[in-house]
Amino acid sequence: MRICDRCGRSLEGVPLRYVARIQVYAAYDPLEITFDDLTRDHSKEIKQILEQCQDLTEEELMSDVYTELHFDLCRPCQRSYLQNPLPAIVATE
Ligand SMILES: [Zn+2]
Repeated sequence: MRICDRCGRSLEGVPLRYVARIQVYAAYDPLEITFDDLTRDHSKEIKQILEQCQDLTEEELMSDVYTELHFDLCRPCQRSYLQNPLPAIVATE
């Protein structure tokens, strides 16, 4: 059964539903590569990156680079979602 992922309302038989597809992926600025960069020894940096990756599962590594989320929404939730798609993080004390 298809339900609204936000409020849990059933979307069966509802003529109008919405899909929110959110892609979050790593964006890199184009690198400016110099001749020195190409000829330099990178083994230390590569070793460092590999060490950072060691504790992560393959899934975690993948989601670090690309994650796609898919939500079904009813009409009221679509409207309220669009009003505030990125709620600010409220610091709790
Ligand atoms: Zn809803």
